Amino acid sequence: MIRSIVVICALAVAAAAQTQPVPGQGLAEGLFQLHEMDMHLHAGMERPVDMKTWIDLAVKDGRKVFVLLDHIELYRRSQADYDAWREKSKFFALYPLGAAGHRALMTDFDNVARRGDVIVFKGWEVSERELDSGLEDAPLRMADVLGFHISPNNGGTPPNGRTLIRRVRQLLEAQKKYPVPMILFHPFPMRMENLQRTAQKQGRDAKTITASEYRFFQPGEQEELIRLLKGQSIYVEMNWDTEAYWKIQACRDALIADIKPLADAGVQFTVGSDSHYLAHMRKPFRPASWCEPAGVTALNTNTVVRELLAIRAKRSFEGK
Ligand SMILES: [Zn+2]
Ligand SMILES: [Zn+2]
Repeated sequence: MIRSIVVICALAVAAAAQTQPVPGQGLAEGLFQLHEMDMHLHAGMERPVDMKTWIDLAVKDGRKVFVLLDHIELYRRSQADYDAWREKSKFFALYPLGAAGHRALMTDFDNVARRGDVIVFKGWEVSERELDSGLEDAPLRMADVLGFHISPNNGGTPPNGRTLIRRVRQLLEAQKKYPVPMILFHPFPMRMENLQRTAQKQGRDAKTITASEYRFFQPGEQEELIRLLKGQSIYVEMNWDTEAYWKIQACRDALIADIKPLADAGVQFTVGSDSHYLAHMRKPFRPASWCEPAGVTALNTNTVVRELLAIRAKRSFEGK
């Protein structure tokens, strides 16, 4: 009896969460494929080559739609710190610090958009901690889209369902001031990174970490997240980091259990390479193998592109 009640309850949650197909998504011509979208490409201070070479590599790989961005905190350092870091890491890119750097970066992104073979949206990657400490107003207002770096918090508590729910509430609040689509970057692989590093530090074989330890959500948290995100312009990222964890059975089981119910219930995802280095950029970005089994389809991930295009179209005649 109890068992059948549990089954009925589970079915009820699934039925309630199931979304209707959205009209206007029936034509392949109207959708970008997963590998054609890179909604998290670093193209600022850490860029190892000139911008044209960098974007050419991504275009050659088949990518067409981009969120180009940089870590916002990099522009806050002292000149001496920046010079030493840039020299040591052999970065090609050179930007001024502070406000002049923000402007120079966004101008570079505008110039990429003029290539004609790419669709470019401008963004920032902002540390999730700035949602607690305060957001830097002027640069944020230059962006079409804002991504928030969910930290692995190595050495501390790994990110989990509570973290994500708290951050979503903060993003909903922040969107009152910054009305742009927002993305929660790479929550799931960051938990996996933390757990594996912790195991290593404790002398435990990381292969013994179970799927239930890897699980991001506790019972009830997915339903809460689904409720919070319903109809909102907040997206969750499927990051290329996921690919490495996908090869591990326990990680794969946890990823599917964590992500698929969200996607099936209409939570909207983005795909991003998070490429920083040439080695990244020379590898083919093929997200389908670790997105589709988790329910993250081209259909699902096109929503953010459509929203950004609509905002751009509306802005294009504002003030005219
Ligand atoms: Zn990040
Ligand atoms: Zn990043």
